[in-house]
Amino acid sequence: MSGSPDLARLNDPVVAIATAPGRGAIGIVRASGRDLSPLIAGLCGRALQPRVAHYGPILDAQGVALDQGLALHFPAPNSYTGEDVLEIQAHGGPVVLQLILARCLEAGRGIGLRLATPGEFTSRAFLNDKLDLAQAEAVADLIDASTEAAARSAGRSLAGAFSSEVDALAQRIVHLRMLVEATLDFPEEEIDFLERAGARAQLAEIRTQLAAVMDRARQGALLREGLRVVLAGAPNVGKSSLLNALAGAELAIVTPIAGTTRDRVSETIQIHGVPVHVIDTAGLRAATDEVERIGIERSWQAIADADAVLFLHDVSRSDDPAAQADDVAIADELARAHAGEPLHVWNKCDLAPERPLPPGALALSAQTGQGLDALREALLERAGAAHMPEGVFIARTRHVEALARTNEHLEFAQSHADQRDAALDLFAEELRLAHQALGEITGQFTADDLLGEIFGRFCIGK
Ligand code: GDP
Repeated sequence: MSGSPDLARLNDPVVAIATAPGRGAIGIVRASGRDLSPLIAGLCGRALQPRVAHYGPILDAQGVALDQGLALHFPAPNSYTGEDVLEIQAHGGPVVLQLILARCLEAGRGIGLRLATPGEFTSRAFLNDKLDLAQAEAVADLIDASTEAAARSAGRSLAGAFSSEVDALAQRIVHLRMLVEATLDFPEEEIDFLERAGARAQLAEIRTQLAAVMDRARQGALLREGLRVVLAGAPNVGKSSLLNALAGAELAIVTPIAGTTRDRVSETIQIHGVPVHVIDTAGLRAATDEVERIGIERSWQAIADADAVLFLHDVSRSDDPAAQADDVAIADELARAHAGEPLHVWNKCDLAPERPLPPGALALSAQTGQGLDALREALLERAGAAHMPEGVFIARTRHVEALARTNEHLEFAQSHADQRDAALDLFAEELRLAHQALGEITGQFTADDLLGEIFGRFCIGK
């Protein structure tokens, strides 16, 4: 954990405003460091009883009160960061908080107090073993949660639900590794080791358990990162109207003039707690000007990356050869841009309620809301998010990838074990690599640059 300049600066005491910018009833300034007693004496004029809220003046250098508030001292190691922590709960005005922050820096000059970098409190908590990496990430995910389900699952990860599953897997791998490594030291016993120790059966069990964790981590990553759904269709079929209906707010400008939605507009809505980023494409027709051409190019990129493509048609024009030709051209382009089969939705069914639809097609009216619920369900189904199990913990793509690499190494290990002259050293090496990939999740084996990236995305004061 050494070598990076940021981590080397972890010896400095730090301070930051911990509450969000703006005005509020209460604002918190928080400091952390090895020994904050000079800072506490400067601001409060006395030492504080540990973990007791002291109400009183917050003093400037002349001993004049800047504000009246609560001061709390959490002596190391029983604090969020594992260091000495001072929390000042003052009034939540931006100016008064800045004054208190400046006063802290002044009173803490002797101990080298400096401003905290984003995520520095939490990274200290991680480095002092107060949280593992998956929990530290859950702190940020809880703060950033865009739906209730995402917040609840981040709460579960923060409480350690994800980490304990990862740790349980790691322990089983360690157990198997110990057996194998011990056998490697006694080569004469190698031959029947795999049989005697039941190594193959153990490995199979580990892989089953891993598959279950991966499944839930994937769902957790969906909750955090959301689905990307592209709305495609000819001009005027009602893409903007549908986006508005799904979002429940006026977002894109709805207009009857063809080709006026020039760029993609993305809005995040939620369907049963899953964030869904809906991207409204520019009209996918032959571009006539440069601005439109750029918009269309972006639409194609969005389609290639999307979890689902929703292909909107106008049912009131289903007999119109011009509309049919438009749809054929779009279908061709969609097939070229995206591997998945688009979800066909027929809009404006209020205008032609009797018109028959192709089998399996969804009838919709962005205007009346008919078919919206069925569409929401169909979208979740497409993206594999329809049956979100209970107790999902929040996870990140990083975690899902680490689990996939763990699985890959276990697969290699299995293939070595399955060979007639099983190569124990290769088996052992793959187990080691699997263990290492798994350890990246909780931060047991994590490169400094990755840590910097993870904590750099936090807000200051967290
Ligand atoms: P876009 O070009 O695909 O984004 O289409 P718009 O959302 O701008 O809609 C084009 C026109 O169709 C507008 O005048 C909408 O009011 C109208 N429209 C959209 N959806 C419906 C619908 O479900 N029923 C009816 N009757 N009109 C609709």
